[in-house]
Order: sequence, then C-alpha cells, then structure tokens
Amino acid sequence: MSNETQAETGTDNKTETRGFETEAKQLLHLMIHSLYSNKEIFLRELISNASDAADKLRFEALSQPELLGDDAELKVQIDFDSENNSITVSDNGIGMSREEVISNLGTIAKSGTAQFLESLTGDQQKDSQLIGQFGVGFYSAFIVADEVEVLTRKAGEGTGQGSLWKSKGESDYTIEAAEKASRGTSVTLHLKSSEEEFAQDFRLRSIVKRYADHLSIPVMMVKPNYDKPETDERDKSESDDKEKDAKADDQAPTDKADKVEKEIEYEAVNDAKALWTRSRSDVKKKEYIEFYKHISHDFEDPLDWSHNKVEGKLEYTSLLYVPGRAPFDLWNRDAARGLKLYVQRVFIMDDAEQFLPLYLRFMKGVVDSNDISLNVSREILQKDPAVDSMRSALTKRALDMLGKLRKNKKDNYQKFWDQFGQVLKEGPAEDFGNREKIAKLLQFTTTQSEGDVQDQGLEEYLKRQQEGQDKIYFLAAESLKAARTSPHLEIFRKKGIEVILMTDRVDEWLMGHLTEFDGKQFQDISRGELDLGKLDDEEEKKKQEESEKALEGLTDRIKTILGERVNEVRLTHRLTDSATCLAMDEHAMGSQMRKIMEASGQAVPDITPHFEINPAHPLIERLDKEQDEDRFADLVEILFGQASLSDGGQLDDPGEFSSRLNKVLLQLQ
Ligand code: ADP
Repeated sequence: MSNETQAETGTDNKTETRGFETEAKQLLHLMIHSLYSNKEIFLRELISNASDAADKLRFEALSQPELLGDDAELKVQIDFDSENNSITVSDNGIGMSREEVISNLGTIAKSGTAQFLESLTGDQQKDSQLIGQFGVGFYSAFIVADEVEVLTRKAGEGTGQGSLWKSKGESDYTIEAAEKASRGTSVTLHLKSSEEEFAQDFRLRSIVKRYADHLSIPVMMVKPNYDKPETDERDKSESDDKEKDAKADDQAPTDKADKVEKEIEYEAVNDAKALWTRSRSDVKKKEYIEFYKHISHDFEDPLDWSHNKVEGKLEYTSLLYVPGRAPFDLWNRDAARGLKLYVQRVFIMDDAEQFLPLYLRFMKGVVDSNDISLNVSREILQKDPAVDSMRSALTKRALDMLGKLRKNKKDNYQKFWDQFGQVLKEGPAEDFGNREKIAKLLQFTTTQSEGDVQDQGLEEYLKRQQEGQDKIYFLAAESLKAARTSPHLEIFRKKGIEVILMTDRVDEWLMGHLTEFDGKQFQDISRGELDLGKLDDEEEKKKQEESEKALEGLTDRIKTILGERVNEVRLTHRLTDSATCLAMDEHAMGSQMRKIMEASGQAVPDITPHFEINPAHPLIERLDKEQDEDRFADLVEILFGQASLSDGGQLDDPGEFSSRLNKVLLQLQ
C-alpha cells in the first residue's frame, strides 16, 4: 500500500505527513461513528496496550536485563488536565521505534481485514458488534479525542531517538523525531469538548478500577489530595519544558507556585495482581469478565470460564474462556489462535497454539507454567513433552467445561453451539482419543426438532430410540428443507424412528470419523440397502418378499433403459409415498464432499447410484404393466429424473426430461 509522504520543511526535526493505509482509514471512521455508546472502552484499550508493552519488555529483559536499567518497576500512569481537557496514558514498557510506530499505528496488520470491512453493513448497531469482534484497539482513542499524540521511545535506544506521532484521526498523521527522557510510550488524548467528563479524577478512577483491577501492572494516578500535573511528569524532557512553561502561564500564577512546591505523589488505583494467580474465591465474576476482554480483545462477555491450578508432576495455572461470539476470522487458516503463555508469571507470548487442538481454536485464555523454560520459543514448545501433557489436560478441561455448560446452562450452550459448533465438529477427526467426549457435545437438528435449530444431542437421541433400534440414523442433505422432504425418510416417518438431519458442510467429514456412539453404529439412511434390523416386523418382510417375486422382471427392464447411469436397480421398502429414489453405496463419496472437492478444482470420482423402486407404489405397478416399450422408456426416464432431483442432484439433460414429461402429460386425456 502506498503512503503519500511529504516532508515539511522549516522545522529542525523532519516532520513527515503520511496518509493512513486505506483500511486503517475505514476502520477509524467506523470506530468513531459506531462505538459512540460505549466510548469509555478507549481507556481499557490504551491500558491494555500499555500492559502488553510492559509484558513485552519484561520478556525481552530476560535475555537483556540492561533494558530495564534503573526503571525496573513497570507501570502505567494516567494523568489528566481538566483545564486543557486532555488525558495522558503512559507506560515504561517496550516502546516503539519510528518504523514500528508507522506500521503499528498507520496500518492494520491483521489478516482478513479487507473481508471484514466488506462485511460491514452501514447499520451502526450491527457494525458496532462486528467491530467488537474485530477488536478495537488503539484507534478507539479517536472516539473521544479529536487529536491524539503518541510520544514513544523504544527500550534500549537513546534519549534522542524517540518519535512523536500525531493525528486528528482523519486521513493522515504526522511523525517526527523527538526527545524522550524515559523509555516507553505516552499517549495523549486531546478530548473533544463534549468529552470533558473523562478528564475528571473520579470518572477516570472508576473506569480504571473496572478495567484494570485484574491486570498485574499497577495503574498509577495522582493521589487525590495533590494537585494534578499538567502533563506526564515522567516524560518531562529538556525539549518540551518551554512548551510546558507556556501552558502553565495560561493558568493562575498562585496555582503554578503551589505546584512547584508540592512533590507529586502517585498511587496505584488497581489491585495489580495478575488475576489468574489469585484464588478462585477471591476473584469476582466481573473481574473474570474484564480480564477476558483484556486478553481476547472481545467486546462481549464470555459464556463461561474455568480457572484451575494444577500441582504435582507439572505445575501450572490455566484460565480458559468460552467466548460468546466468533471472531471475524474464525475460518481464516492464518488467524492467530491459542492461549497467552506465561512462565512463572512472566509473559512469554500471545497465541501459543500448542496448548489446544485446532478444533478448540475458539477458546481464549492464559496458561502460566512453572515447568517451561523462560527462554522458550515456538519451536521449542512444539517439542516439549511438558507441553504435550499440558495440552492433553487442557483439552480435557475445555471439553469438560463445555459439557458442564451444556448440562447446566442450556441457553448459553446453544449460543456457543450456533457460533462454534461447526468448529467443534472437526474434533472427532482431529482427536481420536476424545471422540466420544466430543460426540457428547455435538448438537443436531433431527426429525423431532421443532424448528431449524441444532439443539439435539446424541444422548438425547438415544433416550428416545425405539425398542430394538440398534443404529443411530442420519441423513445428509443440502438444506433442511431438502432433508425433510427426502424420500429416504418415508419409512422412518411411518415407523416413528428419529433421524438426524445433517446439512453442514463439515458433516460428511465428521461422519467419516464418527462411526459409533455409546456402542451404537451410525447409519446413513441414503446409503446401502435399508436394513432396519429388529425394527422390521415379520409380516412386512413376508409381504416384501412376495412383491419382489412379482416384480422380478421389472428391475431388469429398467436397467436396460438406464444402462451405465445406474449401478443396480432394486426394490426397496424404504419408500412409502415416493415411487423411486437413489441410494449410494455404503462407502461412496457423499455429495457434500464431492462439492468441496469440485470447488477446490480436484478430480472427483464418478459414482453411479443405485436406483430403488417402491413395489407398493401405483406408478410402479403401472410401469410393470406397460407394454409399449417407448412409453415404458419415457416413464422410466421421468422417474429416474425425479429421483435425481429429490436427491439434490441435477438432470443430465433437462430439455429431454421436460419433453418426455410433456409427452406423457399429453397422453393423459
Ligand atoms: P492490538 O493491541 O490489538 O494489536 P492496537 O491497535 O491497540 O492493536 O495496537 C496496534 C499495535 O501498536 C500493538 O500491537 C502494539 O504493537 C503497538 N502499540 C500500541 N500501544 C502501544 C504501547 N503503549 N506500547 C508499545 N506498543 C504499542
């Protein structure tokens, strides 16, 4: 993406004006307009970034202790100036180099951003939810500010190597070299005149309490009995003293004199103890929720969480959350996923994906281990046996948590299922060992479901099974409507046997790996010859045999017409209302899988279906009596075409089908 760059001349430090990347511009615009009703979150986002910056520095300092220098107490500081209507959030964390400022604050690095922006509707309410899924971050400052300044200096670099970034949140920003006495970042918000409430001690403190109590880093504010500083004291540097004097001159002279005499004292506003290190009984529900929002960048509350300390051979603490809403990039293969990893309370990395399998990629959380080495890398994590054991324990923990949620909070589980069910369905293929546990969590629509929701579990299905039923019956189709009207269901409906209706793309993949549940086999009712086992009664069987004998010649006659297009022509008793249907071989590739393969340009093997006819249907009787070979052929073709259509397939030659149909219709009078 090309940024327009132009150097302003006439200043000592070269000031560059750069245009925001298009996507950043769109996001900014959206942020300002759609998050207005939730504007205080800007502070959460800025404190969250400051806390992350401290985490990153602590991590770097493991190998380069000199980075901390004599400023080893990492903290966030919030100053405000009610007269000038501004707030400054500063940290002594990792800071940013000039290049980092440009790429972090001028562009959006998330993959899938373009698709995300395309998905926006222009409806503010909907968009603000979507943007919540995307994660708001730094730009949220522009909800309340009409100008934002970021003064930053990367840890390890010299005083003169700071950068000053400024923007009014429109189409461009400026960046210039700047002096900065201490490392880290100060973000100053020049508040809109309508937002002066945020430059008030009480208001700020209450927001900080709400959003930062769970953070391990102290958030400092001036003690109430002391006068407020005008700007961030830690960043006071030679170069901007002049500017400060000028500002101070605007104020009452006595005010200024007072300030010189008083030493400004700060106090921590939050508890500053990493939430997961506290005992469960000490953590309030609200704090768990806020902590979730900090780590996940999600806007909404999580549906559930599980906080555990493990002692013994391995020692670690985990805090896992089930989000309430899928992130915009859930289906993006490259999207970041995984837990936040800490080792002995030191932040190591975000998105440590080794601790949970792919099918649980929606889980958010933290894991803090005492067994992993502090200088671990992603590569080392992959090989560490301690990580393997933690992964299998965390996987079980996550599945158990979902199981409990399903049992105890049905509505929440349904929300979870609607958002993430399709991901969980990847589970049985990926994690053979846990497939029974995963299967208990699956939900489907069945022939007994009231509406179209997937709300029936396999255990419930088994509870309702008929006496003598030894299989779990299912049917896969393009849509619920197609499934519900499928001829394959007829006999099941007649006998009142429940059938699971599968319409998700992933279902065929799922059923390829889930062959049984609770000792019962799954049976696709559109495959193979129908065998209802004990559900068939003797009398029916006898009747079927008789009709088979009576129609012996018919199947051969039909086969002659259809030739290679069908595998076998056979009589079936799975139909009650329909005359014919198609049936697949037990192991043939299903239509969903074929479509997926076709869409990805792969060669799809040809499969020929079996053509099944209902001996009890008047049309079949009529067909059997048909002596005119031409008319016989027309009828067979029409019946075959119909069977293909109701199977969700297409006609090879729709024109010919219509003309045959018309021919037969004309013979009606
Ligand atoms: P996110 O935090 O979700 O990555 P943001 O828009 O909030 O997105 O921030 C973009 C990036 O800018 C961050 O990932 C981080 O690299 C950098 N950044 C923001 N604030 C700070 C800060 N206080 N100190 C250091 N880097 C920061």
